[in-house]
Amino acid sequence: MVKICCIGAGYVGGPTMAVIALKCPEIEVAVVDISVARISAWNSDQLPIYEPGLDGVVKQCRGKNLFFSTDVENHVSDADIVFVSVNTPTKTQGLGAGKAADLTYWESAARMIADVSKSDKIVVEKSTVPVKTAEAIEKILTHNSKGINFQILSNPEFLAEGTAIQDLLHPDRVLIGGRETPEGQKAIQTLRDVYAHWVPVEQIICTNLWSAELSKLAANAFLAQRISSVNAMSALCEATGADVTQVSHAVGKDTRIGPKFLNASVGFGGSCFQKDILNLVYICECNGLPEVANYWKQVIKVNDYQKNRFVNRVVSSMFNTVSGKKIAILGFAFKKDTGDTRETPAIDVCKGLLGDKAHLSIYDPQASEDQIQRDLSMKKFDWDHPIHLQPMSPSSIKQVRCVWDAYEATKDAHGICILTEWDEFKTLDYHKIYDNMQKPAFVFDGRNVVDADKLRKIGFIVYSIGKPLDP
Ligand code: NAD
Repeated sequence: MVKICCIGAGYVGGPTMAVIALKCPEIEVAVVDISVARISAWNSDQLPIYEPGLDGVVKQCRGKNLFFSTDVENHVSDADIVFVSVNTPTKTQGLGAGKAADLTYWESAARMIADVSKSDKIVVEKSTVPVKTAEAIEKILTHNSKGINFQILSNPEFLAEGTAIQDLLHPDRVLIGGRETPEGQKAIQTLRDVYAHWVPVEQIICTNLWSAELSKLAANAFLAQRISSVNAMSALCEATGADVTQVSHAVGKDTRIGPKFLNASVGFGGSCFQKDILNLVYICECNGLPEVANYWKQVIKVNDYQKNRFVNRVVSSMFNTVSGKKIAILGFAFKKDTGDTRETPAIDVCKGLLGDKAHLSIYDPQASEDQIQRDLSMKKFDWDHPIHLQPMSPSSIKQVRCVWDAYEATKDAHGICILTEWDEFKTLDYHKIYDNMQKPAFVFDGRNVVDADKLRKIGFIVYSIGKPLDP
């Protein structure tokens, strides 16, 4: 029986391994983590992450061929294939601070693998890592073990939070990179056989290690660039009277461009896009390619600009001040169908409004109050000037209240900011909401989810991203 172990039971490790266990009943899959809280959540009815469909898959396999454990060393030692899916955040200090990937967690996982291994293993990079990381991992593994053969593969993950299970069950492609030696090719074949249980073989792409590592960074950079491109257009639409939805539709009809990922918004978020582009920028700079680095930097700059533009629009529309005014924040997660708030644009928007002394009443169907308060009190890292900016003052934090209902959030509010595209925001009773708000009542739709015309008929003053302004 092939044994798989995955180090890191997070947003990637958990769902990915659950789907492997589901599709490969003859393979024993152990997901291990140093976080006791995370592992006990995976072993409970309250999984540590929210993903549509995840519950069902975990329940079907847990205890049969899927195990969650903190016994990292034993499971790694037993495994034939070790996936490493630990976090690779942006470095906050030292060389490359603010841009380079922090590979501390990866390095300690690699040292531990070398330490506890008694048999040959395939070690799979599941985390997103800088191109050439496999070279460093190989050195760490071979210099710290005796007579054991480690084959390193790069198998980056392309799932999107909110649709992780569907993405894993029906991936656009699976990418496996390995050494071009006979041993490397054999390792590729072993991993290919695992995915071939449910992924059509023509969708399993095999490349060299560096192409696979770089492809993940490239894919995230391209996706983020598309969002920044449409967001840049949204600013021009507002200035000219064009409607960004109509422009996106017209542009996306071109089969060379396609319609996906062309929705204007308050900006992209999530733990990956910004960090992976910063990493790409750093790699370009290290390789003497400053023009290429600047090109990708601009994607993040436009994203920051879009968030600032939104805050400025809110403040200027509300008679140039939000001081003492109650603003309802509908949605805090970085996208719908996830509770993940990492790098969500809501953080910057809320901080911007708090900076002008607004009172915020926040409702999100999944993001926890603890998480929201933590996000708002955290120091912001300025990647261009790697110094820590001041955290929100305790008095600002007192201006934040988290509530568990959109009607409660909007009661007596002067304005509403919709920051996540949760479906439920489309069908709220906006008549009732309007009646309970201060007048004039404003809606700032950062995701273009509401029917602006309908809301205007009720009496709201509505701002939608990239649309003609309220007549
Ligand atoms: P995460 O923070 O949710 O999970 C990482 C887990 O690794 C944590 O639970 C942490 O406790 C654990 N860990 C760290 N060091 C460990 C060690 N030495 N031993 C055991 N456990 C350890 O992160 P994530 O969102 O799952 O992302 C993981 C990687 O996958 C990152 O490189 C990320 O860029 C990449 N990725 C993420 C997504 C996404 O949508 N979240 C998608 C594709 C790729």
